[in-house]
Amino acid sequence: MTDAAFDPHSLPPLRDVIAQHGLAARKALGQNFLLDLNLTGRIARSAGDLTGVTVVEVGPGPGGLTRALVASNAKAVIAIERDQRFIAALQDLVDAANGRLTIIEADALDVDPVDIAPAPRAIAANLPYNVATPLLIGWLKRITEYVSLTLMFQKEVADRLVARPGTKAYGRLSVITQWCADARVQFNLPPRAFTPPPKVESAVVHLTPRANPEPAEWAAMEAVTAAAFGQRRKMLRQSLKSLGNAEALLAEAGLTPTARAEEIDVPGFAALARAHAAGVGKRA
Ligand code: SAM
Repeated sequence: MTDAAFDPHSLPPLRDVIAQHGLAARKALGQNFLLDLNLTGRIARSAGDLTGVTVVEVGPGPGGLTRALVASNAKAVIAIERDQRFIAALQDLVDAANGRLTIIEADALDVDPVDIAPAPRAIAANLPYNVATPLLIGWLKRITEYVSLTLMFQKEVADRLVARPGTKAYGRLSVITQWCADARVQFNLPPRAFTPPPKVESAVVHLTPRANPEPAEWAAMEAVTAAAFGQRRKMLRQSLKSLGNAEALLAEAGLTPTARAEEIDVPGFAALARAHAAGVGKRA
């Protein structure tokens, strides 16, 4: 522990914080809280060694995971919360953290963590599921700016992040994620682990920047995966027509025209993206 003075168990139980501040969960903000400090400690440990790292947390809520992050070796924690009710409720934790915790009231979709946290930086969050995917895509675009991302998703999304070619879950999100990051599911959690319980299972995913990502441009990668998976049952020579001369594009990328999107691996999509960005097959 960086700060021997911080003891997360010295604070009132999270249930008391919720009762005292009248923090009824709001479904529209994806509020499903983790009140078991053993569990939040496990998520914080999944982030790996945080020594010297500034951790950005999205959606601290009543502060269960925040307590675990402050208790870790992290240099500092910056938590972004959209629901104003939690700002006052988190004040005891801010005081106990001796300057290592800052709360920012904002919509995380409007904040780039790179702008608010010095390097080395990481993100750890039990994400609000309604905005989890757009948040992840934004962070992946700048993944090399992070040591790691440790994120709770609904399990169905976690499965897509790590899905391999040829499986039902394999899609755009799998390709884009695995192109720029190494993604690993750490553990699953049942609905009853949360208060109130969500309808779905959840999973913690740990993502780190890939050492040698296939060269390709982000916009081109988005364009080819959108076209290919937009009609995932069709052969690529058909589904890629929206990008121009599909046969020329596929020949340049060294791919079989009769293949379908779900059979193409990340290097295959990167080759397609490079061909597309180079203007191959584009109609005048
Ligand atoms: N971290 C807490 C925990 O584990 O118990 C709460 C997690 S809860 C699943 C999601 C949190 O994100 C809620 O506190 C919610 O208010 C907050 N939130 C929802 N949408 C947000 C947004 N766009 N920006 C920032 N916080 C948001």
